[in-house]
Amino acid sequence: MPDKDADKRAADLLHHRAQGLAKGDPIALPLVSSSMFHLPGDPDGAASYGRTNNPTCEALECSLSVLEDAPCLCFPSGMAAISAALFATLRAGQTLLIPSDGYYVTRLLADRFLAGLGVTVIQRPTCHFAEGGFDGIDVVFIESPSNPGLELCDIAAIARDVRRRGGKTIVDNTTMTPFGQRPLDLGADMIVASDTKAPGGHSDLLMGHVATRDEALHRAVLDWRTISGAVAAPNAAWLLHRGLETLELRFARMCHSAGILAAALIDHPAVINIRYPGLPSDSAHDLARRQMSTFGFLIGLTLPDKDQAERFIANCRLLRPATSFGGVHSSAERRARWGGCGA
Ligand SMILES: *Cc1c(COP(=O)(O)O)cnc(C)c1O
Repeated sequence: MPDKDADKRAADLLHHRAQGLAKGDPIALPLVSSSMFHLPGDPDGAASYGRTNNPTCEALECSLSVLEDAPCLCFPSGMAAISAALFATLRAGQTLLIPSDGYYVTRLLADRFLAGLGVTVIQRPTCHFAEGGFDGIDVVFIESPSNPGLELCDIAAIARDVRRRGGKTIVDNTTMTPFGQRPLDLGADMIVASDTKAPGGHSDLLMGHVATRDEALHRAVLDWRTISGAVAAPNAAWLLHRGLETLELRFARMCHSAGILAAALIDHPAVINIRYPGLPSDSAHDLARRQMSTFGFLIGLTLPDKDQAERFIANCRLLRPATSFGGVHSSAERRARWGGCGA
């Protein structure tokens, strides 16, 4: 599904800050690291303390809000954003549905912490996510395409069904970024994302964000952040702000390159299986065409054995052997090295 507003958002991202500038103000975003603010007399809503206010983080959130077309809150990592989203929406006695094949640490968070606090955690594979329905589920957490399996599920259909049954839908949009998929427009209540990946784009920061158009949810996530203290460092926020300014260009090129590589790899004799939503032969291709505006930059390859996989990664001059993705240095890893787990 083409994203007809992407060009406008990309331009707004670069120019929205100029509207608020006074003569002599810096064009590039200043990095403010102060934890204290000049605060005589009554607070009157002025900036007070670094856990509550930071101008660099707030400028970053304005940029993220332009990209998401929704109010955003930034966090020191993707997992901090996911924790905030889940802790702010769930109560003891409620039920959470998560993917069994999504980001491993999200499953750890649910099983080790939320389950212990009285939340019932259910897991389903992404490609059969809607089977069994959503009755009695308070929060449905989707990851599409999933990391690492690149499975998809129908975000619009699931969000509609969940809403009808009184639940909330949260989508982890890390693998697509706001330029590749628009979960809020598809009906989701909240987006979480790791900006450590493509938005940062240079493998030199960890950050994440939450986006929602639901005022009560936004407030709950903000309260979680201020009270738990999961606030981003201004330095990382400043770097991410800079990374966002080239995200559209980098993302388009990354997706284009991935499409060329996937088409070249599909007939390679050493490739036993390939997952890339852009390939017409991929099981998720039709759904990808409907709900994504591009097919992303991640490719999943199955090679005959461990040694061939390791040799491929070691001998490809253009690949860094590393966990994580989305930076200017293309990377690859043998996922099976983690067993059923992942970093
Ligand atoms: C990397 C990743 C996360 C976690 O993000 P961090 O910034 O590493 O905390 C969450 N979800 C997905 C899909 C990811 O790829």
